[in-house]
Amino acid sequence: MIRGRCPICSKTFTVAKLDDLPSFPFCSDRCRLIDLGRWIDGAYAVPAGAEEEDEASAAERVADDDEPD
Ligand SMILES: [Zn+2]
Repeated sequence: MIRGRCPICSKTFTVAKLDDLPSFPFCSDRCRLIDLGRWIDGAYAVPAGAEEEDEASAAERVADDDEPD
């Protein structure tokens, strides 16, 4: 058994193996995304110049997402 504590919401969890918790070390995908969002916020705080590249890849992602569900 693996015990951990989510760094986002401080909830403790216990799993049999790490494969059971793809969001490790977070308790859930939700907390994983919150952490990712914080990380991205930090990334956007870098000096201008990287911005153009980000927009280009964002547009690419939108195009990829254009399929009906
Ligand atoms: Zn959590």
